Amino acid sequence: MNQFSLPYCLIIEEGIYEHLDEVLVECIPEIVEQKVMVVTEPALQDIMGKYLEEMQKDLPLSELFLIEENSFDQAMELAKEICAQGFQAIIGFGGGKVLDVAKYAGFVGKIPYICLPTTLSNDSLASPVAVLDLDKDTRKTLGCKIPTGIVVDVNVIMNAPIMQLKSGIGDTISKYTALYDWKLDASHRGNRVDDFAYMISDMALTSIFYNDEKSLKSKEFIKILTQALVMGGLAMEIAGNSRPSSGSEHLFAHSLEENYPEIKIQHGMAVALGSVVSCILQGRNAIRLRETLEAYDINVNPLGWGITKDIFVDAWQKASATRKERYTILNEVSLERSVLERIYEQLV
Ligand SMILES: [Zn+2]
Repeated sequence: MNQFSLPYCLIIEEGIYEHLDEVLVECIPEIVEQKVMVVTEPALQDIMGKYLEEMQKDLPLSELFLIEENSFDQAMELAKEICAQGFQAIIGFGGGKVLDVAKYAGFVGKIPYICLPTTLSNDSLASPVAVLDLDKDTRKTLGCKIPTGIVVDVNVIMNAPIMQLKSGIGDTISKYTALYDWKLDASHRGNRVDDFAYMISDMALTSIFYNDEKSLKSKEFIKILTQALVMGGLAMEIAGNSRPSSGSEHLFAHSLEENYPEIKIQHGMAVALGSVVSCILQGRNAIRLRETLEAYDINVNPLGWGITKDIFVDAWQKASATRKERYTILNEVSLERSVLERIYEQLV
């Protein structure tokens, strides 16, 4: 059985970044006396400087680090500082890029990591992986540790760009096909999926799929989405891999990213589009899935993202090659041009 750990605390409240002094000690009781590395990016320092200033007052031994990119080198630079300067805890304050760099630096530096998101664009919030650029053309998902603490201010997330929240929804809804592919992989290998991880991932999916509150800017919805993304991350931690959250729809997203970097589409949007196609390839009825995505105003028309028929066909045909070890529906169905063209036409 896979050994797993859970975050020590998860706090989702309105206005909680206003009194971080009380909250951070819940995550790490001795944090006030510790040397703490606070990681964010320059743009956020301008917009949310007041939270950072307060945090630095609350943590007198803290130091602020501004990162420029979400690269492996950047994370290693921070890890080197952690080791050289003796930092004892690391806080990531920002979006997915900042959080992934801070998470990986904390993992390499072997210190506890607290996650303070300012947006919710994917389930890396609580996941045991970090997606980092190895060089200009190569992005890699690297295994690391889940956060020690996750603290989410609902009021801050409500002001995040709507497209980022939609991306978080897309990443959650894509579990609809990821879970199907996970079972397919398990039966192909003659083993079972981890029931508990499956259940948690399914709960994350249903909380968004069957949710009546579709207003993305409501406090109620932000809380539901946060919990769903955290559950998505925990399911990966429990399973010991990303299969509860990532199937053929994610392979399509990776293929787009690797083969067509000029297509600018958020991760959550790419996997939402991928999920509709995977659902059709899985021989399931995709109407309910499409209706749900439309209810959240998520566009699954590939043309809307500049994905032409040729790109669509090629990206799907190359999808399996992005993670060769994975068994998904793509290993079982025909990906002939005519099949994919027919699906493309249904979508546009
Ligand atoms: Zn994802």
